[in-house]
Amino acid sequence: MFVSISKKVIIYVFFIGLALFGGWGIYWYTHIPPILHQELSDVYPEGNAPAPTPTADYIHWAEFDVTESMMNKAFEYDLKTYGSDNHVSWIDLLAYSVAKKWGNVNKKTSSYIDEAITHIKSGAKIEDISSNLKYFALYKKIYSAVLSEYVGTYTNADGIEKYGIKAYSPIAKGYSYRHYDDFGNSRSYGYSRRHLGNDLLGSVGTPIIAVEGGTIEALGWNQYGGWRIGIRSHDKQRYYYYAHLRAKKPYAEGLNQGDTVTAGQLIGYLGQSGYSSKEGSNNIKTPHLHFGIQLIFDESQKDSTNQIWIDAYNIIEFLERNRAKVTNNS
Ligand SMILES: [Zn+2]
Repeated sequence: MFVSISKKVIIYVFFIGLALFGGWGIYWYTHIPPILHQELSDVYPEGNAPAPTPTADYIHWAEFDVTESMMNKAFEYDLKTYGSDNHVSWIDLLAYSVAKKWGNVNKKTSSYIDEAITHIKSGAKIEDISSNLKYFALYKKIYSAVLSEYVGTYTNADGIEKYGIKAYSPIAKGYSYRHYDDFGNSRSYGYSRRHLGNDLLGSVGTPIIAVEGGTIEALGWNQYGGWRIGIRSHDKQRYYYYAHLRAKKPYAEGLNQGDTVTAGQLIGYLGQSGYSSKEGSNNIKTPHLHFGIQLIFDESQKDSTNQIWIDAYNIIEFLERNRAKVTNNS
């Protein structure tokens, strides 16, 4: 009698345990942020990964799939509250909404920006409402690495200090272009690979603008990118890659490796150079700017096989409102 009760107890405990922890395990697995899935599959290819905690040292993998409408909504509120007691950074709003959805960006994610705004309007601080969100700090770090220099104070052409968008579209004002989200598509020149940028199709000679200020780290010929220019942000976290520039006169006058450029500055001209080891070859069929953004959380990532390039399509759409006018075009 005694033995059979204890067997029953063991069975009950087993099933209660399974119900509680099995269910939690399935929920947990299906709700791990996708970036952590990715990170784990890189670090533990055998699949015997421990609990997915973000690495303490630096972020090994990140994606940027925040939509343009999310950026617009978060930015408008940031701008509207600037200078007031309940000013909140658009980066915090974006990080809150995505952390709420455990890293998944879908149609509902944007509604969490509204939720955060409602709390803030009633006096809460972003620190309070995000304190129990496991992934808030991680997304804040990632979105800061992408967007930290896009919005802030700047001095306009009339010498007046303003608060707003400081970054520019890579295509000068008044020049037409078209693009679609072609990030990750396959490319086969040289070797089979993923397309780690966005192609902006336009006319040869269209002035290309520095999206953000920084230091020119690369300038010259590369067999894939043709005439290209690589600009590193001042905080070192972003590397902008502008490629396939015009075969003749690819760059703005006087630019050299090591020079500093400012956001909105003319840096070169759209073209179709590249896909050859022969300098100056014009082998790209359709003239376009290849635009790439690389994130660098640790210097070892810059030229490693684990580079982090993000989808810039939505960023370019967002920056459409801030296009630089080029006056000394040649
Ligand atoms: Zn491209």
